[in-house]
Amino acid sequence: MSTSHSISPSASAPIYMDYQATTPVDPRVLNEMLPYFGQSFGNAASRNHAFGWNAEAAVENAREEVAKILGASSKEIVFTSGSTEAINLAMKGIVEMYGEKGRHIITCEAEHKAVLDTAKHLEKHGCEVTYLKPGRDGRTTAADVAAAMRPDTVLVAIMWANNEVGTVNDIRGIGALCKEKGAFFFTDATQAVGKIPVDVEADHVDLLCLSAHKVYGPKGVGALYVRRRNPRVRLVAQMDGGGHERGMRSGTLNVPGIVGLGAACRIAREELASETERAIALRDRLEANITSRLDHVHFNGSREHRLPGCLNLSFSYVEGESLLMGINDIAVSSGSACTSASLEPSHVLRAMDVGDELAHSSIRFGIGRFTTEAEVDYAADRLVDVVKRLRAMSPLYEMVQEGIDLSTVNWQGGH
Ligand code: PLP
Repeated sequence: MSTSHSISPSASAPIYMDYQATTPVDPRVLNEMLPYFGQSFGNAASRNHAFGWNAEAAVENAREEVAKILGASSKEIVFTSGSTEAINLAMKGIVEMYGEKGRHIITCEAEHKAVLDTAKHLEKHGCEVTYLKPGRDGRTTAADVAAAMRPDTVLVAIMWANNEVGTVNDIRGIGALCKEKGAFFFTDATQAVGKIPVDVEADHVDLLCLSAHKVYGPKGVGALYVRRRNPRVRLVAQMDGGGHERGMRSGTLNVPGIVGLGAACRIAREELASETERAIALRDRLEANITSRLDHVHFNGSREHRLPGCLNLSFSYVEGESLLMGINDIAVSSGSACTSASLEPSHVLRAMDVGDELAHSSIRFGIGRFTTEAEVDYAADRLVDVVKRLRAMSPLYEMVQEGIDLSTVNWQGGH
């Protein structure tokens, strides 16, 4: 196998610290995918020749791997083009199948836009949606969901882990509650799978989505877990066609992508413990490097319930855009990658009641498989320099340094 395609993680700038937005394909994953672009190009649905059988075997092997990382059975895995499609299939598919039982949905304001926009779509089609407000730490608990639960609640859609602040929700508690009340529980586990243990049985999950490009697999492929037993969950397909994926998602399978997803899940499962330890050490080193040298740094998220490789900090008395420009050799995100094109403060930080000023100056650092200590130290040095430089030009920061309480200042008065 040629290794000329392998990506060698570089220690020099620009430094990638945006692992929640996407991850590079692991060279081991890429190597497993390559044959399926070449001699093993068959259509997995071709049942009458070796090219098809070969592709089908590879797909089924990947299906086993995806199932294994979730504690599921392979028959419960439906391949999709990613989490966005899986979210649409889960939410719309449930409402269309079970809508006569009830049309109330519970979700959370801190969900990804793919969930929020699908919920909005369903509202236009006769559903009533309760948008829970997360705690100040970004967390949604079983008690929050219980308070909103109604006899006609058909679906609860609460993400496993948040993509902006890394807060991990009370999935086990919410799963048990949904089971008791007879509502279907869908969780967007895009940021959780491969980062923290996920077990659909222990956590009573009915539907779950994941995406290869967040776990060192390729973009454009993901999966939806659909429970088959206790209870058996049925969905109305959103894509009509040849009846692939047991009728739930028609369309010729993306064999190389699926092989990549399977390999990515296997590696993530095998290396979960060591990778977690490494990510936590680097994340904490980064935070300590920053907070030991800067004051007025705010932590966004939950210290107790959090992803290993995510650190979200806000810096008072600096302007967000200037801060990002100042550290433009470090790839980080201010809010979700999917919404950073707009200048609105992050809807997640808003939901958590982080003020607009602090939301605008928030930075999400994503630490991942290829992050090094040297990169973390470089990023911290650059950030500390830039924040100090910006604060040196800030009249507000100067006033605070002089001991003036800004909340007592009459900004209208004076000259
Ligand atoms: N859900 C979460 C929590 C995400 O972080 C993302 C990616 O940004 C998505 C859904 C969308 O995933 P995909 O890119 O596979 O459509």
